[in-house]
Amino acid sequence: MIEIGNLLTHDQAEQLAIKIRNAYWDIEKFPVDPVSIGQKLGIRIVDAVLPEDIAGALLKKIGEGPIIMLHGKDPINRKRFTLAHELGHYVHRLERGHFDDQEIDHVDHRNQDSRKGSDEEEISANRFAASLLMPAQKVKSLCKHKVDVYQLSEFFKVSTSAMKYRLNTLEIDCP
Ligand SMILES: [Zn+2]
Repeated sequence: MIEIGNLLTHDQAEQLAIKIRNAYWDIEKFPVDPVSIGQKLGIRIVDAVLPEDIAGALLKKIGEGPIIMLHGKDPINRKRFTLAHELGHYVHRLERGHFDDQEIDHVDHRNQDSRKGSDEEEISANRFAASLLMPAQKVKSLCKHKVDVYQLSEFFKVSTSAMKYRLNTLEIDCP
């Protein structure tokens, strides 16, 4: 268990995603499938009819398993990132270790531009998601082979904006 207070630093979120990917996914296989990882964590993942401004939610009732709801009409790559983000919230709670019979009712609104935002847990969940789907090492090794951001986003099955953001975070220049 990673020793943390209530919040993960961004580096810890990055490391936690590596740990989860190593445990629940074949690290050589891309794109990473967050559905498979979530299911192995015992989470039910459902496409749902949600209000337009809600991207996803992580829910758990006492005595029941966790559920992640995704906005059913979102494009697949967006849903993959939202799911990875929700997994970040879940795993973060697991790591805090006082999880067993707690209720969770976490809803993610689109307009809370959390990539720039102030909510540290949201930023960490995004960092977790980016690291889970776009592992730093793999991004770096691909970038040595002169691939561009569009090829990268296709490879990792993420939106180009998520890919660009990841390259920025990792301070990698790609065409
Ligand atoms: Zn969130």
